[in-house]
This record gives sequence, C-alpha cells and structure tokens, in this order.
Amino acid sequence: MQWTLRQEEVMREQCYRGAEAVRDAIERECGVRHTIRAVEAHASRIHVSLKVLDECSECHAVGVRINRQSGMCPRCTEAAHVAEEEAFHDLLKAEAEGCEEGPELEALRRRYAQLRQQNSRLCRKNGLAPKRKRDI
Ligand SMILES: [Zn+2]
Repeated sequence: MQWTLRQEEVMREQCYRGAEAVRDAIERECGVRHTIRAVEAHASRIHVSLKVLDECSECHAVGVRINRQSGMCPRCTEAAHVAEEEAFHDLLKAEAEGCEEGPELEALRRRYAQLRQQNSRLCRKNGLAPKRKRDI
C-alpha cells in the first residue's frame, strides 16, 4: 500500500504513542488502515521511532518523568501541590481571623458606610425623614 506525505506526517506527530496509535490516527485522518507490521516497517524505513513515551496529562510535555500518583510531570505536580496548599492556607487564615479583624469585617464596614451614604442621599433628594427622626 502507498504511503502518502500526509500519512507520514501523521506518523511523525503520533509516533511517541506507539505503532497501534499511529495506525489508528492514520485511519482516522486519512481513511487508510495499515497493519501494525506495515506501520512498523514504514517507520523504520523513514527513521521514525515508535517507542512509547510518557506524556504529562497537564502540560502535555512528552518524554518527561511522570509522577505515578498525579499522572503529571514534576513541574505540574509541584504546581498542583502549591495550589492546593495555597487554598488551604486561605481557608486557615479566614478561620483564624475570626470576629475582631479580617476581610469579612472590613467588607461589612465598607458596606455599612456605603448604605448609610446612599440612604442619606435618598432622604435629601426626596425630602424624606432621616433615620434619627423616625421611630426605628
Ligand atoms: Zn506537565
């Protein structure tokens, strides 16, 4: 069977996934199904290695060492650790800050000031009685 340039291109793109993956990709892309033996023979003819290499599930780097637990390369594994620990840190910080200080209290103070300003503006603009002149 004839090998087209496009089939060889697919072979070079997919070679690190092994002979079977190359055969399937060529079938998918070009509509031609070779035998595994034909794929291996042609790969050897055009000097393409079909050795299966590991691929990071996150950054898709090929031929890198993969952490079995995470399925990712060392860099992506470490980045995931950092992200996880950062989220835990934020949670702990929020818990530790509690009632007397912290972002929640600051947000409430800002909201209170904002509402008071809006309400006094409404009263002035519409001639309504302010809170201190009401029985509330
Ligand atoms: Zn990675």
